[in-house]
Parts: sequence; structure tokens; C-alpha cells
Amino acid sequence: MRQIFFLVFLVCCGHVFAQKMPCASDEMTALMSRKYPPGMYIKPMSVAAKTTSSADTAWYDVPVVVHVIHDYGSEYLSDDTIKKSFANWATVMLGANADTADVIDPFKSYVGNSRIRLHLATKDPAGNPTTGITRHQSYLTTLGDEQAKFGQWPTDKYINIWFVDLSAWATAYAYNPYGAASFPWYDGVLSIAAAVDTVKIIPHELGHYFSLAHVWGAVPIGTTCSASDTVDDTPPTMGHATSYCVPSALYDTACATGYMVHYTDMMGMDSVVDYPDTVNAQNIMDYTFCPRMFTKGQAYRMRMGLTSPIASRNNLYTPANLAATGALDPVPDMAPVPDFIVEQSTGPTTPTDKRNYFLSLGNPNSFMFRNTSWRDTIDAITWLFSSGAATPSSAASVVSNQFSVPGWVTVTLTATSNAGTGTVERQQSVYVADTTPVGGVGYMQSFTSAADITNWPMLNYYNNSFRWEFFTGAGKDDNTCIRFRSYDPSALATPPRIIGTATGDYDDIFTPAFNLNGVTGDLYVNFYTTGASTLSGISTFDPLTLDTLELYASVTGGVSWTRLGLMDGYELQNNGLFATEFTPGSSAPWLSKSFAVPAAFRARNTYFRFRYKPGNSGNNVYLDNFSLSGVPAGTQEALLASRNAFAILPNPGQGVFRFVFHPGTLASVPCSIRDVAGRVVYHTQLVVTPGNLAQKEVDLNTLSGGMYFVMLNVDGVPVTEKLVITQ
Ligand SMILES: [Zn+2]
Repeated sequence: MRQIFFLVFLVCCGHVFAQKMPCASDEMTALMSRKYPPGMYIKPMSVAAKTTSSADTAWYDVPVVVHVIHDYGSEYLSDDTIKKSFANWATVMLGANADTADVIDPFKSYVGNSRIRLHLATKDPAGNPTTGITRHQSYLTTLGDEQAKFGQWPTDKYINIWFVDLSAWATAYAYNPYGAASFPWYDGVLSIAAAVDTVKIIPHELGHYFSLAHVWGAVPIGTTCSASDTVDDTPPTMGHATSYCVPSALYDTACATGYMVHYTDMMGMDSVVDYPDTVNAQNIMDYTFCPRMFTKGQAYRMRMGLTSPIASRNNLYTPANLAATGALDPVPDMAPVPDFIVEQSTGPTTPTDKRNYFLSLGNPNSFMFRNTSWRDTIDAITWLFSSGAATPSSAASVVSNQFSVPGWVTVTLTATSNAGTGTVERQQSVYVADTTPVGGVGYMQSFTSAADITNWPMLNYYNNSFRWEFFTGAGKDDNTCIRFRSYDPSALATPPRIIGTATGDYDDIFTPAFNLNGVTGDLYVNFYTTGASTLSGISTFDPLTLDTLELYASVTGGVSWTRLGLMDGYELQNNGLFATEFTPGSSAPWLSKSFAVPAAFRARNTYFRFRYKPGNSGNNVYLDNFSLSGVPAGTQEALLASRNAFAILPNPGQGVFRFVFHPGTLASVPCSIRDVAGRVVYHTQLVVTPGNLAQKEVDLNTLSGGMYFVMLNVDGVPVTEKLVITQ
């Protein structure tokens, strides 16, 4: 039995535990207590030995809601898995799990029953019927942790349990009542989905939720016998991190030999209780990973945590709350929630993205749709597709489809169970791109009306506020443009960043087809941007990532994409810090940007895609005047503005600069750069290919931020241009 358990641990969950601690409740509580003062730590709550007096017989029923935060991967736990696991958690809380039979003799009489009965809620906070399970798609299922705690139900009414794909910190964690009172918006259990019914992880976290400490106390594991969990019938231990369920661990007496506790009762009578002289390695709050039991003392302490007003735990089991949450009512039989996901396309060409929402008309690859309806056992589904679908309707769970009409495709899915029918219609499910080119070299799009972008589809994959949109109120040369809305008001909230950071999201806008077949010489995608950042409100806890704007090209009708370049940092957020939502005024500078289009991407049907990846620092970024040209954006303007025979783009800027020259007979141009003290910090000989607008890219990444003087000898004439390098 033990060997089987050990094997299960290593095979099914070893990869999960290998790099991270199983439970981060102590660490997260300490961290959050610093971030959100006045956080308090577990308060000593010594538990008397006689915890099973005949007066202590109350039973407590508590409502629970399970939230599945997913991106349709393996973390998308089925309703059946959740219900089956839930029944197991509930059994463990009552000490009624069958494997208490394995409890070693010294502890058989100490197996505790918390008398806390878990129930999936049958009424949601609005009083509507529920199965006690919610689902929310988010990129934050991976490493989102606190940010992934979407849709918390009132914590004085429900125990919230979230399942995610992967946690940055641990397999699972939960806050004790003191932590929960200090930062209630994070109150509940968060666990990876793989641990839904593994080594009693959830009962362990519920132990924390009801105020239990780890059996070795609130100190680092394996360091001392003398720290206490303030529960008397769990003998002193160091916690046993690595030895697992071998007999030497189960019967380890190193910390517990001679362990007894002296009590004085209210009448002044002394008594001594001689507890087992071995550690309780099978305790659910231990790390030996052979969990079988809570002790009676722990059961008592959990009841104390539950019946305390701290974090309103004592409201959970009140008759009024049980009625409001329907905790004692039978689980309602509800009609299915229809849902589907677009998956990676199928066809002769291998796609580069996890999912395909954009394919050209007549593409040899097919869109793929997968049914993910839930909440009841589905008896039948029906798909309905618009846009001249090859398969207009289908009853299959997974459907590959092609469409003969360009534009957005409407997909309707109906799911039926014994309890009823649910239908979802998505009018912008996937996009079929027209293959007729709208132009080639010389094309210019200045986004003057929303009609201009009817063939520029914008995909908001996670259906949130961070998205591409047409914008009226600013523009490079007019009052309209497109923008990525990266502004996140929660970043500026107090306390900051409650739920749902933008980090991890991505959104696309696609261009129509361009005919670039046979184009020789230089070719650029040109555009202008202006943006800002919102850095305030970011704490060291949040992974600070930059916003990035990437440009991709595809000559396979959207099946595979190649990145041509990216913008981030100051270049993208060139207006600096804006504490409020950034909208460019007339004085906000627009920066020109150009990405060269290699020969491999000059086809009869070339598509481009801007992909925006918001970070924690983002404010809005605006984009305008998209063009395809033989010269980089801003070249003519820069030369006109420069009094010299050459100009530097961008200026100010950083990294790689472009030196452009008036038409002439240039070939080899000596170039030196001096700092403000007059020191030569860079010297080179620019070999310039003569042309209509001769130019040369110069990598100045070695120079730090500041002002410089660039000195060139152009066709025998010495000229100097000021250059500002940003940090
Ligand atoms: Zn723990």
C-alpha cells in the first residue's frame, strides 16, 4: 500500500513537486502580510488535551464553490472529476477515509473528525441555481496565482477553491483566518489542477483555511524539533521533507521521545498526558506524503478557526447562510453550458500557433472546433456554421471545417442534456481572409474610419479589456488611428493589482493580403506609434514584464508566421509615465518605425500580423499610417528637418539607428561619435550603397544614454548632427 502510494506520488505528481514546495501557505502569508499590512501571522491557539469532551459534539455544514481557471488544457477538470474529488475531501475532513486503516498503532486512537461537512453550493451569490462549479478562461491559469483568483464569491458565505494549470509558488496554498482577514480578496484555496485528488492536498489546504499550521510549526521544515503547531496531540517533529512513507519515517522518535504535556485544570488539579513518542508522519499537515489523518487536537483547532469571527468564518455554517447558499439542498440538475474552443488547424502545412483563428480563403488547412460544453452529462450537440461551410452542421465533438465566403464566421453550438438545452452563438469565431490583394508597394492605410479596418480583423483571444480597437480622438496626421488598450486601472488601485494582471495576454490585428511578388530592393513595413507606461502600483511580487509589439509575416495564408521584429521599452512607451489612461494630445510625439521585409515574404499573398503582449507596465499604445515602402518610415521627414546632408532615425532612440543620406555619390563615409566631453566614443567607416535614399544601419548598443555628436564626412564636407540616446 505504501509502495503504491509512493509510486503514484513520483509518477503522477513528481514533476509538479520536483521544483516547488507542495504548499506555500506560510510563505504566501508572510509575503502578503508585508504587502498588505497589517497582516498578522498564525496566532498561537493552544489546544487543551481534552478536546473530545461530551460537550463538543456540534456538526458544522459549510458551502464551497470550486472555480476552474483554465485555458482548455489538462487543467480543464471535468465536473465528474471535481465531484468525485470533492466527495473524497469531505470524507477526509470527517476522518472517515478508508485509508485511516493504515494509521500506525500509536495514533489509531488520535484520528480526528472535524465534524465540518463540506457541501458544494447550490445557490450562487445572486441566489440563482448553481452546481457549485464555475469556469473562467484565462492565460493566468499558468503562473497567475493571486492574479488568477477570478470570480471570488463572498468569503463570509462560501469557501472558494480555485484550480489552475501551474502555480509560480507551490502545488497549493491557502490563508489562515488571520491572513484572510487582512487580505480578504485572496481568501480561499488555490491549487494546481493535477493535485485535485492527490496526497490529500486540498484537505491539507482546508486545514490551513481553518487555522491549522504545519505539524513542525511555522519554521522552515527540517530545522528544529522545538517549534510547535500549538496542537498538543501532534508530537514534536521536523516535518520529514524527503524520506516519504518508509517505516523509519513513520516510527521516527528523534523529536518525540518522552513527549508528554502537563495540564492544570480550572480546579487546580494537575494531570499529565503521555502522548505517542513517535512523530505523526501520517498527519495531513506533515510533509512525509503519506497523509492519512488529522488528530483530534487538530480537528478541535479547525472548529475553533471555523467558529471564530475572524474573517467571518463563523458565518459560513449559520442557518441563514446555509439557506442562502443552498448548501444542504440537493445538487440541481441543470442544462449544459454550451462552450467550444478553436484549436490548431489541421492540414498539410504545420501551423506555428497553438490555435488558428485566421486562415486565408481556400487554404489547404482547416479550422478546428472542439466542443467543451459542461455542467451536465451531454446527450447531443449540434454545430451550425455560416460562410459557406464545407460542413454546414455536424454532431461530432470535434469538427474540422473550411469556408467559401471571406470574413468573420458565425459558429453556433447547441448542447443538450436530460435537463435541457443550451446554445451559444459567436459571430466572430474565426476569420477567413480574402486572398485578393488590396495593394503592394506604395500601399498606405491611415485608419480614417472604422470601415477602413473591415478587412483588418482584431482578435481578443481572452475576451478582456486588453485589446486592439479603432480609436477616434488621436492620430498621426488626423484624429483617428488604431490602438492597443493596455491600460489596467487595477495597477493603480489601492491596494494594487487585485486580480487579473495583463501579463501573459496577447492580442492580434491582421492585415489584408498584399501582392509583393517580384518586389526587388529594399522593402519596409512602416508605421507610427505613440505610447506610455503606468509603472506605479507595481510591487516586487508581480512579475514585471515589458509590453511588446511584434510584427509577423505569413505567406501561407495564416498557417505559419515569422516574426520580423519587435518594439518594447522606451521605444514603445515613448511618452513615459502616465498615472491615468494615456491618450496622445497634439504634443505627444509619434515615432516612426520600420521593419524590413525579407525576400522570402514577398509573395502574391503576404499577410502581416501585429501581436501585442501587454505586461504590467503598460498604458495604451496607438498605431497609425501603416505603409509598404522602399524607404523606411520618417526618412523624408527627417531629411527635410535636418539641415545636414544626412539624418539619424530615430532620434532620440536607442540600439540600432539608421543613417540616411540625400541622393548623391556616396560610397565610403568616415563617421565618429563624441560625447559631451568631446571624447571619441565610437568610430567607423560607413560603407554606403548609393541609391535613391542611401542608408546604413549603425548598432550603437555599446553607448550608454546621453547626448552625443555624430560627425561625418559626406562627399568631402564635414557635418555634425546631435544624437540623443535614451536609457
Ligand atoms: Zn501547508
